Amino acid sequence: MSIKLSKRIERIPESVFTTMSRLAVENNAVNLGQGFPDFNGPDWLIEEVYNAMKNGKNQYAPSIGILSLRKNISELYKSIYDIDWSYEKEVIVTMGATEALFSAIHSVVDEGDEVIIFEPYYDSYIYDVLLAGGIPKFITLHKPVFSFNFDDLEKSITNKTKVIILNNPHNPTGKVYTKEELKFISEIAIKNDLIVISDEVYEFLTYDNTIHIPISTLTGMKERTITISSAGKTFGFTGWKIGWACANEQFIKGIHSIRQWTTFAVNTPCQHAVAFGLTKIKDYLPDFRKLYQKKRDFIIKELENSLFSPTIPLGSYFIMVNIPQNKNDMDLALELVRDYKVATIPPSVFYSISDEGKSMLRLCFAKQDETLKNGVKNLKAYKV
Ligand code: PMP
Ligand code: GLN
Repeated sequence: MSIKLSKRIERIPESVFTTMSRLAVENNAVNLGQGFPDFNGPDWLIEEVYNAMKNGKNQYAPSIGILSLRKNISELYKSIYDIDWSYEKEVIVTMGATEALFSAIHSVVDEGDEVIIFEPYYDSYIYDVLLAGGIPKFITLHKPVFSFNFDDLEKSITNKTKVIILNNPHNPTGKVYTKEELKFISEIAIKNDLIVISDEVYEFLTYDNTIHIPISTLTGMKERTITISSAGKTFGFTGWKIGWACANEQFIKGIHSIRQWTTFAVNTPCQHAVAFGLTKIKDYLPDFRKLYQKKRDFIIKELENSLFSPTIPLGSYFIMVNIPQNKNDMDLALELVRDYKVATIPPSVFYSISDEGKSMLRLCFAKQDETLKNGVKNLKAYKV
């Protein structure tokens, strides 16, 4: 039989995370590539999954998400950001942030619509937009602090522009957008009647007392912003795949329409556990943040004055490091995983217009101290 896949598949390569994690295993290398903690989240939350299962929470959940989780998400955001999302109409639970992004993009982007994406980007945005028939337009965040040129953004808007995708705190750079930047993006969105999809999965991971501001809290933005987050990051269980979106009722209906024919509902026991986890989040967050601050400080200190001089992430659990000038990221990432037993991510795959990615590597520091020490040691063994 000649197997013919759909044309849309031809545009979709294997994800760099899959490739680098596979190479890490094949080469028995320390994995500082794909973004996931190599340690467990809290035991008390795992207990809650058992409890939910033992208590019969094992059948399909309501398609929009269980009531207690939607309520607790809504209460959490009211208490920390003073924003009102109706748990009945303005919150949906999704299979990780990934499903929220896919469904949000598919529910607002039509064939030929232009979508503004800041690069380097989290790669799923591009493929979601392309699968929806949209046209990605890029604005570069320039190193070393990953700022963008306000004029570039203003000039990139056309009468076809429909959406701006924002990721704050930012993967892969660790940038946390300033209030001034967010205000400018809001002004552009309001002036041109655009939708903002704001991926805030690292909302609780900021460093050096940096404050995360959800763009939905800025004047005029609540009605036009779809805010997405994920318990995978906040509780360190990326494999549970519990995420959510908060937005105006119309957007939630759109997301829900797509989800009816993709996943229909999300894993029930983990929703119950996360609903419980959110009631404890204020006790949980201080230690969680301290743990990651320590890991971030460690990796910066170790790599300062090395061949891999770090940029400084203010959020997320990623760090971009510079590489020797005569190298490019792809070749170096392959050499490092093969010959120096450390897997990294070559960030040029996160850029579409700028070459800046070729001069850096992305490292993930959501790793046990031992893993970080070994990873750094292997990096430092590299000689040009
Ligand atoms: N957005 C960003 C910026 C991410 O880094 C990730 C995963 N690392 C996701 C979305 C996907 O989140 P989830 O695992 O909850 O689907
Ligand atoms: N978001 C994770 C990262 O940036 C990877 C998630 C995935 O592999 N889909 O590394």
